[in-house]
Amino acid sequence: MKLCYQNIQIIDLVNDWHKQDKIIAFIPTMGGLHQGHLSLIDIAKQKADKVIVSIFVNPAQFDKNEDLDRYPRSLNADLVELEENVDSVFIPNVKQIYPNGISKYVDVGMIGRILCGKTRPYFFNGMIQVVEILFKIVRPNVAIFGQKDYQQLLVIKQMVKNLSLDIYIESGEIIREKSGLAMSTRNQYLSENDAKIAANLYRILTYVKHEVLQNKKIDVVKKMAEFDLKQYFKLDYLEVLDANTLKQITDNTCQIIILSAVFLGSVRLIDNIIFLKRNNYV
Ligand code: AMP
Repeated sequence: MKLCYQNIQIIDLVNDWHKQDKIIAFIPTMGGLHQGHLSLIDIAKQKADKVIVSIFVNPAQFDKNEDLDRYPRSLNADLVELEENVDSVFIPNVKQIYPNGISKYVDVGMIGRILCGKTRPYFFNGMIQVVEILFKIVRPNVAIFGQKDYQQLLVIKQMVKNLSLDIYIESGEIIREKSGLAMSTRNQYLSENDAKIAANLYRILTYVKHEVLQNKKIDVVKKMAEFDLKQYFKLDYLEVLDANTLKQITDNTCQIIILSAVFLGSVRLIDNIIFLKRNNYV
């Protein structure tokens, strides 16, 4: 496994691999690796000859009052996890990624302005900047992202389309704890008791799916679920939408997504469930 700290190191490595006609898969992360990240590596290995993981805690996607300083960093443990698993790890510093500073405004498109984009407007702005820069440095054939951050996935797909990048975007299913709680680096902030409470998010999303599949009226189901969520969390949003467009479900919808974001104390949790529309749920 080759460690690259400088852009030029990864550029040279990737150039060599491209010359050898290797297919290169890329997984951007902020470190603090868990099974969710590792599942994306498994997908990458099936798709490509060479697998690159980046570890970069991106300051551009944190608001001033967010947790940039205390975001869990565990580089040594991460490298042990990656050692036998990937071909290279790219670990740039902020100067390497943003030699000209961070842009204040980047167009994240309609999909980036709703849901999480409303509550955390800086987030997609910063995320899209780093992904575009990383893509231009690493030049992979395929990049893999988790469905846990479903809106992020759609924003990235849109960016790739807008910029006509020849990078295939693949996604991996959400990996969960036994309790149903979606794995996340930020779960480290949760006490044992909070982690138990947090599992209610998935339980309630599962209930919504069940009711929607029973043809119950979405507005009614949503109201019930919102009431239930508020027993445990401060609700940011709960939506039942078309999974391709993140707009209201129509006759043309083929996949439905239930998405929610909630706060448990100061920890923000997001989760979603995607399923095929079997009937007319409008
Ligand atoms: P992060 O390090 O949190 O920026 O995440 C890096 C990548 O891992 C993103 O594409 C995430 O969507 C993905 N990811 C994070 N948690 C999970 C999970 N529980 N299951 C699947 N993918 C995940």
